[in-house]
Amino acid sequence: MGSGQVTDWQGKNVTVAGLGVSGIPAAKVLHGLGAKVTVVNDGDDARARAQAAELEALGIAVRLGDGATLPEGTELVVTAPGWKPDKPLFTAAREAGVDIWGDVELAWRLRGPDAAPWLAVTGTNGKTTTVQMLAEILKAAGLRTAAVGNIGVSLLDAVLGEEQYDVLAVELSSYQLHWAPSLRAHSAAVLNLAPDHLDWHGSMEAYAADKGRIYEGNRVACVYNVADKATEDLVREADVEEGCRAIGFTLGAPAPSQLGVVDGILVDRAFVENRQKSAQELAEVSDVNPPAPHNIANALAAAALARAFGVPPKAVRDGLRAFTPDAHRIAHVADVAGVSYVDDSKATNTHAAEASLAAYESIVWIAGGLAKGAVFEELVAKSAGHLRAAVLMGADRALIREALARHAPEVPVVDLDRTDTGAMLAAVQEAQRLARPGDTVLLAPACASMDMFANYNQRGDAFAEAVRELGAGA
Ligand code: ADP
Repeated sequence: MGSGQVTDWQGKNVTVAGLGVSGIPAAKVLHGLGAKVTVVNDGDDARARAQAAELEALGIAVRLGDGATLPEGTELVVTAPGWKPDKPLFTAAREAGVDIWGDVELAWRLRGPDAAPWLAVTGTNGKTTTVQMLAEILKAAGLRTAAVGNIGVSLLDAVLGEEQYDVLAVELSSYQLHWAPSLRAHSAAVLNLAPDHLDWHGSMEAYAADKGRIYEGNRVACVYNVADKATEDLVREADVEEGCRAIGFTLGAPAPSQLGVVDGILVDRAFVENRQKSAQELAEVSDVNPPAPHNIANALAAAALARAFGVPPKAVRDGLRAFTPDAHRIAHVADVAGVSYVDDSKATNTHAAEASLAAYESIVWIAGGLAKGAVFEELVAKSAGHLRAAVLMGADRALIREALARHAPEVPVVDLDRTDTGAMLAAVQEAQRLARPGDTVLLAPACASMDMFANYNQRGDAFAEAVRELGAGA
């Protein structure tokens, strides 16, 4: 199908892989364009049947209980981003010379001729935060925009809906990038790169390569993290448009073509008249909410993309001031008896937990859950100096306990062997007992939550609820 826009969908045989948040809207849109759509799905449960019935009523064919066989005559596969590339359906498609598009590729191909350019963000951690900061900055500059991707407006709605945009702030996961070969952003940022989802991608190299696709064909700026060399390497390997620049962000003083921090001020030495001699003040560190180091890095990345789009400095400051973080991302819950309680339930991997542990001096750390194959040695070794104590819970807590025993044997550890609904209150009570005035009790589990909770939101809510109970009893 080449790499351009597809204008004639009439009668085209399209197989949509996966009923779900991206599959159902994709099937409807393609059907509406005149394509002959068949949705295939592995599962065949009550929910899938209800969804299938809804699609069939519209005239869309659905095959439940078999997501592996490629339907006869398929000319294009549109897949849910989470489907692993080694599935037999894809092998069959490749052998038949049939293109495979993910949800992002589909949106990219369906956008109109005067579509808004994309400012794209990926990274192991910080994507949602950065994209939301970026959208606020663009809004502060008077631009019509939205934060799209896994958050807010869906990509298909953003490119096909009634609403007109000047520019889109797009969050992209490594899965989505894997399936988006012809995406060409105006400018893009890779925030950081740490091992994650390796079972899906197959190796760290493959994961990095998929993230690196975000830079392909960038027109104005490839934004990288000076502290994370792997992101800079990806810029170097990317094939970009003539004149596109590599722009670094750093928590230190910026070199030319970088954004960074000088004396508590976010400064731009990239998008200025004379970058050898001058720098532009953008905002104060205190304008970033919360001003934890990794969040300042997110703000700098957002600022770099906005500046690449021509946004004036004042809009960067106003946008950052307008930004409020989503729940469970280093959210301050309460102070009880001189101890600060912070919910970073969204820190579901070690890289994220390391960032939040670096943000506080003396911490009683509540951690544990499902490790997803992670190793905790480096996290614990790097964070040991900040730990007053640790309270461990969840299925894989022994892995963290062993890492603590090896790298921080002096840190007191409470091993909470319970998974009932009162477990979080018990953890918070233990943390209160161990904390001294001035300390931070930090929920940064470094693990997924599904062993004990429905999701990270519920885990964070349980933490906040427990803290409120402490407060009421204090
Ligand atoms: P994502 O969309 O990539 O999951 P979020 O913005 O939702 O990222 O943040 C998820 C978690 O990652 C936060 O709760 C925080 O612990 C951590 N985090 C945020 N930004 C960074 C960063 N730049 N580096 C490391 N960890 C970060």
